[in-house]
Formats: sequence, C-alpha cells, structure tokens
Amino acid sequence: MYFICEKCGAIDDSKRENNFINVLYNFENYSEEYYNKHFCCTECSPRKYKDGVWTLSGSWHNYFKKKYYYELDYDIFKDLVENGQIYNGKKYLKKIKYNK
Ligand SMILES: [Zn+2]
Repeated sequence: MYFICEKCGAIDDSKRENNFINVLYNFENYSEEYYNKHFCCTECSPRKYKDGVWTLSGSWHNYFKKKYYYELDYDIFKDLVENGQIYNGKKYLKKIKYNK
C-alpha cells in the first residue's frame, strides 16, 4: 500500500521502515504526538521510538526515487487514488489542480 507523507508530500510504501503501521493501528510509539497521528515517509519518521529503541527511519530508503504527489501527472495520480492504490490520496487529489 502506498501513502502520502503528511509532512513532506512524498509518496512512500507502507512496507518500508516508516510510521505507517504505528499510526494506522494507533500504537502511539513516538514521544512526539505528531508522529502518532500523521503518516510520515521513511525519511520524515522519527529515528527513535519513545522507549529509546532506534528505528530504521530517518533517511530515505532508496528502494525507489523519492517523488512527491504533486509531481505526478494528474490523470495518473487520479487513477491511482480512485483505484485505492494510495491510502490517504483522496484529500491530496483535491489539493492539486488539473494542469495538463
Ligand atoms: Zn516525508
């Protein structure tokens, strides 16, 4: 499942080392409340959990190039969102204008 980072707008894969699952299941593993409530990409997710354990987050994973949702072609982005490929894509679809 792909999602959009609510901090920087990057499109990331929930299977990478980011806070997606923690936020989805409301685990509240982070000291800063922001990261317990907002989906963040691997680079924006905290380096540590609140118990002091290091995460593998904090830098981009390089499994694919970092790309922001507003860089995608509108029609491609719209198709991905409408087909349920981007978990939180609907609110971002409203933010970008048709710029073909
Ligand atoms: Zn980010």
